[in-house]
Amino acid sequence: MAQLLLVEDDLAIRTSLIRALGERGHAVTSTATAMAGLQAAVEPGVELVLLDLGLPDLDGLTLLTMLRAVTRVPVIVTTARDDEQEIVRLLEAGADDYVVKPFTAEQLNARIRAVLRRSADTDGGAGPLEIGGLRVDPRSREASLDGASLQLARKEFDLLLFLAARAGEVVSKQTLLAEVWHQPYGGSDKTVDVHLSWLRRKLGETASTSRYLVSVRGVGVKLAVPDP
Ligand code: CA
Repeated sequence: MAQLLLVEDDLAIRTSLIRALGERGHAVTSTATAMAGLQAAVEPGVELVLLDLGLPDLDGLTLLTMLRAVTRVPVIVTTARDDEQEIVRLLEAGADDYVVKPFTAEQLNARIRAVLRRSADTDGGAGPLEIGGLRVDPRSREASLDGASLQLARKEFDLLLFLAARAGEVVSKQTLLAEVWHQPYGGSDKTVDVHLSWLRRKLGETASTSRYLVSVRGVGVKLAVPDP
C-alpha cells in the first residue's frame, strides 16, 4: 500500500506496529532515534512518516521542525499526551495528523490512508502545471515555454517540476537538495546553483535578467509568473 517510516524508540510498540501495518499491506522501515529518523525520512521512496513524540535524543516538536525544513513528506505524529495545545502546536509545525496512544492499528491505518489521499490530491494528481507561458507535465515529463518544447535533462526537469508544483513559494536550496537530489545534509548549494543556471539558460533568462526563476537572496528560489 505505502512505504512508511516509523520513528519509535519503544521496541515493543515498534515491533507490533511493523507487524500490524505489514499485515495491512504497508512496507515499514523504522528507526529508534530522532537523528536516524531525520536521515531516513529523506530516503527516496518514503511516502509517510509515523513519528513518536517521546524520543530519547530530541523532542518531537524540534524534530518535526527539522523534518519540515528538508522534506514535505506527510507526517502523522503519535503522542502519549492528549493535550490540545500541544496538538495544535504540532499541526502548526507541519504534522498532517496525529493519533493519541494507545491507538489501534485499524485507527492508525485509516489515518494513514486519509493523509495519503489528501497528499495525492495536493500533488495535483500529476496533471500538467501551467505557470504563465510555462507548461510542465509530470506524466509525460515534457515541458514547454510559450508553446515551444524545452529539452531538459532529467534533474533539470525534476527541479522545474518541484518548483512549478510550489509556484510563488520560495524554496530553500537545502530543501531542493533534499527533495530533488535526496542529499539532505552537507550537500553543496553548488549543485543547485549549477542546475538553476542551466535551467535559466533553457528558459532564455539569466540570474540578473530573471523572469520565471527568481532568486531570493539568502533564502532560496521561486518560480513565478513574470511581470508583463
Ligand atoms: Ca517513545
